[in-house]
Amino acid sequence: MKVAKFGGTSLANAEQIKKVGDIIRADHHRRLIVVSAPGKRHKDDNKVTDLLISYAERFLENKEAEKEKQAIYIRYQEIVNELGLSEEVWQRVEADLEEVLANKQGLSTERFIDAVKAAGEDTCAKVVAHYLRSLGEEAAYVNPKEAGMLVTDEASNAHVLPGAYEKLAALRERKGITVFPGFFGYSAAGELVTFSRGGSDITGSILAAAVKADVYENFTDVDSVYVVNPNLIPQPKEVKEITYREMRELSYSGFGVFHEEALIPAYEADIPVCIKNTNNPAAPGTMIVAERPYATNRVSGIASDSGFCSIYVSKYLMNKEIGFGRKLLQILEEEGLSYEHTPSGIDNISVILRERDLTADKEQRIVERIQKELLAEDIAVQHSLALVMIVGEGMRQSVGTTARATTALAAAKINLEMINQGSSEVSMMFGVKAEEADRAVIALYQEFFGDSEDAEAKPAEQESSIMV
Ligand code: ASP
Repeated sequence: MKVAKFGGTSLANAEQIKKVGDIIRADHHRRLIVVSAPGKRHKDDNKVTDLLISYAERFLENKEAEKEKQAIYIRYQEIVNELGLSEEVWQRVEADLEEVLANKQGLSTERFIDAVKAAGEDTCAKVVAHYLRSLGEEAAYVNPKEAGMLVTDEASNAHVLPGAYEKLAALRERKGITVFPGFFGYSAAGELVTFSRGGSDITGSILAAAVKADVYENFTDVDSVYVVNPNLIPQPKEVKEITYREMRELSYSGFGVFHEEALIPAYEADIPVCIKNTNNPAAPGTMIVAERPYATNRVSGIASDSGFCSIYVSKYLMNKEIGFGRKLLQILEEEGLSYEHTPSGIDNISVILRERDLTADKEQRIVERIQKELLAEDIAVQHSLALVMIVGEGMRQSVGTTARATTALAAAKINLEMINQGSSEVSMMFGVKAEEADRAVIALYQEFFGDSEDAEAKPAEQESSIMV
């Protein structure tokens, strides 16, 4: 059994949904289908989820929201019509949408927003099920509550609860094709809660783990994952195979292809994930697996993400002061901040945070407390940082990657604000000024992947490999 998830661009209009239908029908193992809400049809278009969010926000502010509502209805109506579905189907779809959009019925603001957002996937799943039936397939929509998608009660940021898997496993026994809306589940109290944005990937992964699928296929709009952002390097190399850990690191640092939380369920259940292209299903795509051969390409990708800042703290003999790190992190915890990294030296430590979380007043309070409570000698907050990452399991088994990376960055005259190697040795991270991040990524790409085979061949020829 295969679980196949289709993203927003794969469902953006009737033409795309027809491709989805062809893909499902081409392989009878594709029996559990997860859908996103219709995404952008072209660069300047709106995703249905964004339309739903603007609608909900305007509705809650008691502002005129008819324009947003109509835009949503028109999207679905066009799809229903162009798929050749009946007027009766449209009326049912419209009535279901209306029930969610027009009824706040005692829901809190957060719950209303989640319910409206989820209507994007929910409506899409119903339409896709109708469409498959119109083609003569045995297909049915399933509601996540009835199926047992049990999640935590964190609005717009739900996480699956362990109890969900057992109940969802029964989906395996259903006859025909089951169409499951992505992006949301229900709390133990029966309230609808959505995952974070892009969360239909998470739904697919949970279902693949629950039904012990042979593979979790994630259909998107690119032939594969690329070793670097294709907006920076035209036609970069494709990644054929990548491990869960590598993909996790790359998703964290800006690879938008797959939601960073989506790998965990598949990884834990050892289900391979295959990223494929709805517009070119014959392409093999990228396989995400537990192990890959590392000998030929130790580096599997280069990514960068901006929006970070660092708090640098120094104090003589910090290394001997028991509890210094805990107290420092506790100050952040008390301000409700989670930290990303903590590179440290003997007498100094930097804490890297997401910039959006560190408001000006929090920053002031934190700096004052570090001064007063930890008697730090020097504190400096640096804003507008980007983290550039080289990711590859093969780095663990070879020497010289850092040297090559820093040499390439030095040649490109990029000043490194920080270097951090993850303890797992799967990734190496460079903190640079945000405006230098793109140049840094290009320099690293040229070093590790430039000139076709040469760059990858280089390590094997020039450097000895050690096993750790
Ligand atoms: N439609 C939702 C979003 O745009 C979830 C998803 O597509 O995965 O965030």
